[in-house]
Amino acid sequence: MKLDVNALRYLSQDESRTLQAVEIGQKNHDIVPVPLVDSIAGLKHGGVVRCLKALLRQKLVHHDNSRYDGYRLTPLGYDFLALKALVARGAITAVGRQIGVGKESDVFEVLNADGEVLAMKLHRLGRTSFRAVKKKRDYLQHRNSFSWLWLSRLAAAKEYAFMEALGSAGFPVPRAVDHNRHAVLMSLVNAVPLVQVKLADPGAVYIQLMDMLGDLASRGLVHCDFNEFNILVSEEGEVTLIDFPQMISTSHPNAEELFERDVDCVVRFFTKKLGYVPERDASLPYLRPDFKAVTAAATEKLDVQLGASGFKKEHFSALDSYVSALQGMVAPRDGSGSSSGAEESDDPENSDDESDASDRSDEEAGSEGEGEESNEEEGGGGEG
Ligand code: ADP
Ligand code: MG
Repeated sequence: MKLDVNALRYLSQDESRTLQAVEIGQKNHDIVPVPLVDSIAGLKHGGVVRCLKALLRQKLVHHDNSRYDGYRLTPLGYDFLALKALVARGAITAVGRQIGVGKESDVFEVLNADGEVLAMKLHRLGRTSFRAVKKKRDYLQHRNSFSWLWLSRLAAAKEYAFMEALGSAGFPVPRAVDHNRHAVLMSLVNAVPLVQVKLADPGAVYIQLMDMLGDLASRGLVHCDFNEFNILVSEEGEVTLIDFPQMISTSHPNAEELFERDVDCVVRFFTKKLGYVPERDASLPYLRPDFKAVTAAATEKLDVQLGASGFKKEHFSALDSYVSALQGMVAPRDGSGSSSGAEESDDPENSDDESDASDRSDEEAGSEGEGEESNEEEGGGGEG
């Protein structure tokens, strides 16, 4: 997806207000009626209609008059709101090239106010397999409607919280810098996905990965997507782990199975793709970590800390059920990377901003507190 940050400059203040009003309205409405947008935005008479038309031309909102005259955000509109907030607080000043297209995200290079290049990940849950997931509505348990906005936002919040906790615990992960809505800002890692590198010493990297899986489990966590797309390797052979929205606690009922799956994923990649067979390498201190042993020797419990942090339990479970619904339907969740072309049956263009997108129940809105944030942004909007 193209992300033209310049377009941000062309949005008038009234248009920005209107875009935010649509977002707020989506807490309770899947399509926000024009009069509601009008009353939330509080513009002068007739102003909102003109602004909505301008936003529509820029593809920031989607128009729907099948039931009544209304609008909702497109993913691009949501991107703009996140960018605007990050720009307003000086977290970023410019957006550069796209460096990654995951199955569930777009990753861009961005610049901060000090001229440092960072990575910005925009979560796009539901992009590739939305219709399939939609059929399996049970993934949201008792909820009967759901929203890509809401899920993407949860994924970003979770990713940020985990990145921060893992970083503080000394794991090699990007530095968590900031987050807003579905966007996570982090340090740019000068390394490429394992799938793209030719390893000088595969055994050394293999054992680093096994150690990391064991260390994670001993701190109470399983990554659940520990594969050659989410492990970045530098020229020096140092690894950095990314992509955390699907991580679970070792106390999760399927933790052991998912842990073994992560381990097998690495073993398979080294054996099948790199032709390195760990069993034949006598220099390895061990072949694979033992889940029961490492969890029994558990030290500081990051999963418990994270559970007690701002990221609420019910949010974990909503995301978890989304992720498992997805995992049950599609091959390895991260198998696509940017290159494999393992697109699901859906047309990503359509699933993004047409009929699939956001429905949002009252209950979802209630647990979110998005309004506060929007207000705060509005207040802080003039600073930047
Ligand atoms: P997804 O959940 O969509 O798989 P990832 O977090 O795995 O998203 O990111 C997708 C791709 O973007 C990665 O495979 C990697 O190439 C690139 N990427 C993500 N984060 C960073 C980062 N901090 N530094 C450098 N590249 C990154
Ligand atoms: Mg990934």
